[in-house]
Amino acid sequence: MANIIGANIPAFPNPGNPEHQIKLKEATVQQALQFSGLNPLMEEASLTAFLNEVQDPASYVDAKEWSAQSRKMAIFWYAVQTLDDAKMTADYLCDHCGEMHSYRYDLRSLADQFHTITGKPYREFDFNGETVRVSPINGEGMENLEQAKQGVIKPSSKESLNESSKEHNRKLLAHIRLRTLVLSIDYPNDLTEDKDERFKRKDEKITALTVGQYRQLEELVYNCHQELHHGLDMTADTDTGELYLVVGAHECPNLKGEGGEALTTSLRVPFRNYSNIPMV
Ligand SMILES: [Zn+2]
Repeated sequence: MANIIGANIPAFPNPGNPEHQIKLKEATVQQALQFSGLNPLMEEASLTAFLNEVQDPASYVDAKEWSAQSRKMAIFWYAVQTLDDAKMTADYLCDHCGEMHSYRYDLRSLADQFHTITGKPYREFDFNGETVRVSPINGEGMENLEQAKQGVIKPSSKESLNESSKEHNRKLLAHIRLRTLVLSIDYPNDLTEDKDERFKRKDEKITALTVGQYRQLEELVYNCHQELHHGLDMTADTDTGELYLVVGAHECPNLKGEGGEALTTSLRVPFRNYSNIPMV
């Protein structure tokens, strides 16, 4: 009988907290049976359950504490390391010369090219007389937002939404935007161990701001999130919000620019193709 060995998934530094090495083990059938019962509408909660189950106990840290980007990186790492063949081909129509080209890439080497967070895992600035600390949203925060998004009313296949449903959605999305901001920040001079109490105090401070101040705060927090970027290179579709993985830039073999420079096309693939929890 052939000796079949499970995938040996190499450890990697948690991109949002590089001192922590993440070591995942390939799921057993017994574990995969459990994952099959996870609610597909609760992707973040499912991801927490999956990552906590397949972590090596020796370096275990609850995935609710990992940043959203580290969690995405981990599911991608798991997916590509357990693939039989991680070499892919992207065929695309070139905008430069109008012909079809093929780009070969290796998902495993792509997985190797992640960024770890630069400097401290947070940024601070003064706002309205207080220090504000911005950190990447963690798994717990993502689950909180996911829970809130469950209230969005979706149109049925036959009818579009009526006015009151639209109004409900607009209000809810404004609340989710506010909640995203609350979950992104802390006031280091006003911390309490009690998470609910801390959330409430931050929420009260932010809702007391003027609309102009709120926009200003949002922009400052957005800029910090950009600086704190880590994990994989991804882009989101502006209309649907769907995430894409940037797989590289391919050089047109037929044409050069006017100054002889290479003409490249940036290629991306849907992230969902490589973020599935293994099920049986
Ligand atoms: Zn071309």
